[in-house]
Amino acid sequence: MKTFTYDRVTSAEEALANGAGASFVAGGTNLLDHMKLQIVTPERLVDINRAGMDAIETTADGGLRIGALVRNSDLAADARVIAGYPVLARAILAGASGQIRNRATTAGNLMQRTRCPYFYDTALACNKRAPGSGCSAQDGHSRTLAVIGTSDLCLCQNPGDMAVALRVLDAVVEVAGPSGKTRTIPIAQFHQLPGDTLPIAEFALDPGELITAVTLPPPPGGAHFYRKVRDRSSYAFALVSVAAVIHGDGTGRIALGGVAPRPWASEAADAAISKGARAIADALFEGARPQEDNAFKIDLATRTIAAVLAEAKEART
Ligand SMILES: Cc1cc2nc3c(=O)[nH]c(=O)nc-3n(C[C@H](O)[C@H](O)[C@H](O)COP(=O)(O)OP(=O)(O)OC[C@H]3O[C@@H](n4cnc5c(N)ncnc54)[C@H](O)[C@@H]3O)c2cc1C
Repeated sequence: MKTFTYDRVTSAEEALANGAGASFVAGGTNLLDHMKLQIVTPERLVDINRAGMDAIETTADGGLRIGALVRNSDLAADARVIAGYPVLARAILAGASGQIRNRATTAGNLMQRTRCPYFYDTALACNKRAPGSGCSAQDGHSRTLAVIGTSDLCLCQNPGDMAVALRVLDAVVEVAGPSGKTRTIPIAQFHQLPGDTLPIAEFALDPGELITAVTLPPPPGGAHFYRKVRDRSSYAFALVSVAAVIHGDGTGRIALGGVAPRPWASEAADAAISKGARAIADALFEGARPQEDNAFKIDLATRTIAAVLAEAKEART
């Protein structure tokens, strides 16, 4: 057991004033697991559960502003989300369990860390957990890990479901810094690729910054899909997932989960939607660096995209 201090705050301002060198606790479903395993050993915890930031508001342009502490269950059950952004509701409901979704928050979900087995095993080398120690995954078991966006330092995948839907919806992450300065980060840039420098930055947040909300543009229309392929039919992370919004004229947006350190999408892939699954996958996986164990993910993703396109075609007829 490592000792740490624990402070409970009642506003975002108070959280920011106390945030230097601390870890914010939201639902705690990821952070506390990591503390128990000593993957992380923060000296200070700041509990933000009573800091407000728990409303879902309609914005002036007809979009949504989702407070950082909105629970995953509440977001998936919101009538505006179900009507205007069903891909988001479906992605959230495909993740974890009811109990965890009742506790997990919008910001915490975005900030969930990789499920790489070597990140979890503190006896083994992991550059993400212990910068400079190496990456055991390079010569190890990589079945669940990323096939693209990786580097020699890290093969970690981003395990989240919700973020994949947020990627096709062009969500924007609102953050506030310790000085009170606010800024926004497009979801496409929020999760970082490992690159070749240490330590590995996972998120586009500066020290002490707090996520205050996630905003969505007005509903995109079209038919929405979230298809997740996993080893068990529930309570398992995606081997591959596909989020898509497909319009009647065959245009749309598509993003993959489980294959990269961030929700994986590209303009070229979106432009290829009318050309079929192979063309979309070719665009998405250009430059992929699969390992022997996880090369199957490229075929699996291609077939999952094909299944989504077939469902979209059926929805149009
Ligand atoms: C058994 C199990 C199965 C799961 N299955 C899935 C699954 O299938 N799909 C899926 O997507 N997820 C799954 N999850 C992960 C789950 O979705 C995350 O644990 C959860 O979303 C994290 O949210 P939280 O609020 O509990 O985060 P916390 O654990 O409280 O925080 C996580 C991280 O976010 C930081 N943080 C939290 N709020 C803020 C903020 N406002 N500003 C800045 N930093 C912040 C914390 O400091 C911490 O680093 C599973 C989890 C478990 C335990």
